[in-house]
Amino acid sequence: MKSQIIVEPSEHALEFEAKGMYGNYGGMYVPPVLAEKLLVLADRFMEITKDEKFKDEFVYYLKQYAGRPSPLYYAERLSDFVGSKIYLKREDLNHTGAHKINNTLGQLLLAKRMGAREIIAETGAGQHGVATATVAALLGIPCKVFMGAVDIQRQAMNVSRMELLGAQVIPADQGTQTLADAVDAALGYYIENPNSFYCLGSQVGPHPYPNMVGYFQSVIGREAKQQFLQAEGRLPDNIFACVGGGSNAAGLFIDFLPDHEVKIYGAEGGGDGPAINRNAATLSYGKPGIFQGTYSYCVTDEEGKPAQSWSIAAGLDYPGVSPQHASLMESGRAEYQPITDKEAINAFRILSKLEGIIPAVESSHAVALAMKVLKDRKDQISIINLSGRGDKDVERELREY
Ligand SMILES: *Cc1c(COP(=O)(O)O)cnc(C)c1O
Repeated sequence: MKSQIIVEPSEHALEFEAKGMYGNYGGMYVPPVLAEKLLVLADRFMEITKDEKFKDEFVYYLKQYAGRPSPLYYAERLSDFVGSKIYLKREDLNHTGAHKINNTLGQLLLAKRMGAREIIAETGAGQHGVATATVAALLGIPCKVFMGAVDIQRQAMNVSRMELLGAQVIPADQGTQTLADAVDAALGYYIENPNSFYCLGSQVGPHPYPNMVGYFQSVIGREAKQQFLQAEGRLPDNIFACVGGGSNAAGLFIDFLPDHEVKIYGAEGGGDGPAINRNAATLSYGKPGIFQGTYSYCVTDEEGKPAQSWSIAAGLDYPGVSPQHASLMESGRAEYQPITDKEAINAFRILSKLEGIIPAVESSHAVALAMKVLKDRKDQISIINLSGRGDKDVERELREY
């Protein structure tokens, strides 16, 4: 059964406009020195999308190293509980425990092609840093990970993992010493070091990153559609994913975009509710604006300037969001709703007890949204993207809530 599933990016991942725009959103809002590098990167990216040898290499590592295809699992007890049939796309079973490895494999294979001498990355909670350090070790390329000084304190375990994998963790000690500052530090280093390759962790930032990350992650939906058709003989009625920067959601959604009978839902980090600084629900509560090199939505303060975000899920705790999701919301193709910390923790507990699967608290947001939306849809069948596993969340989440 497993071997019949074709593992590859979706052809629909290349349906963006000139300069990487998605409708009104996207683009490249950066200083000229950086723009020059990014335009070269964009050309090299377009080249590899047409290169069968690159695709074969990417697919080889996705299968043999990351463990793809990930299963599409029918969650019978969760389905009974919700009263609607639900499948889980098991990205939690990938090597390193989440979807992030799909993107780091793709970007670092591109870096190797481009002759990069050094990989750099930013990380918040450390998940993307670990995924990057992992693939850098695999390919034998030196790796530096920029991380806010505060996050280094909070995420000691992931710092140890990155160091064990041979990466150097560099504290970003400007500003609030968290993720957004780590991005600035990494970009600064990237501009000054011509032989470095910047591996960005989500579907955010300037062109061509949203295009690249969407392309590499689109393997998720490309598989899920084939698996669902085999299991049910038709397309799903609804698909759900959580949205931080938006990469796992884009990964699931992209292959289904032309299938208008499939309804698409994104769950944002609703934190404690709509108050400023108390959530990361960029599309639900934020405004359009330029943030970290791209035009998309952003959570803002009283004056409309980018604000600090909050979510119990470190992976969702980012003030910006993918321009592709901004465009999908505007066109009405996808719908985005905030899920509070409490609702996510409730879903985290329910899935653990009913299925023996401890989900990442990020992914629990998607489960919580599905539980809400599917309450009165008993004849429908849906897919939830389980973006990662929740071992990392067990101690903190259960104690505090
Ligand atoms: C990083 C992360 C996310 C959020 O990132 P996206 O780019 O929005 O997918 C979601 N789930 C898990 C498990 C993560 O590690």
